[in-house]
Amino acid sequence: MFIIDLKNNDIDLSANCMEATLCKSQGGIPSTGICPGTSTNQCCDKAYTSVPINDKTPVNRMLTDLAEILRGAGLSVIESEGWQTRGHSVMTSVKSIICHHTNGPATGDFPSLRIVRDGRKDLAAGRSYHAGATIDDSVFGNPNAIGIEAEAVGVPLTNSGHEYWPEVQYQSYIRGVRALQAAYGVPASRVLGHKEAAAPVGRKPDPNFSMDEFRATLAK
Ligand SMILES: [Zn+2]
Repeated sequence: MFIIDLKNNDIDLSANCMEATLCKSQGGIPSTGICPGTSTNQCCDKAYTSVPINDKTPVNRMLTDLAEILRGAGLSVIESEGWQTRGHSVMTSVKSIICHHTNGPATGDFPSLRIVRDGRKDLAAGRSYHAGATIDDSVFGNPNAIGIEAEAVGVPLTNSGHEYWPEVQYQSYIRGVRALQAAYGVPASRVLGHKEAAAPVGRKPDPNFSMDEFRATLAK
């Protein structure tokens, strides 16, 4: 569920792997379970902030409470083994939520799971490469935004209503985003569709429903 932008992943994670002691000596925060080799070879995040955005906003950690948050909202959650350690290091903050669709096959049970999880190794508790360039990376960039990929064929492209989405899936999307907003203190104004957050304008079409309607429903 928390995954990548399939077309915008050109960052080499291995470049961030180094000995944990070296990472700390350079002012970074090392995370285990991401880099290959010995346990002390860790993913080093130097682009972090230690200033909380508000008292609900976690900084510099993997979001390993995601499953618990979504279950708490009454959603059925299936955890993909190893998700807690699969991210590209820790999140800097959670200032925003970006909605995607997978643009996947029309049949099957979560047919995009494999590409979501394994395609770029990003189905993750921590930072995922889903956003690409955004209108404001300090808010909507990968270190600061939770990305949600919803399985959908993604056609036809439209910005109105949600008629091409099963109601049960759409309502689950709403419910899940509401729970994440509450847990991390994200206002509805910072819940954007990828098509709204992506830069330059027009680079991304997803998701193919009205984000204005989506945000209005969040607020109800
Ligand atoms: Zn997208």
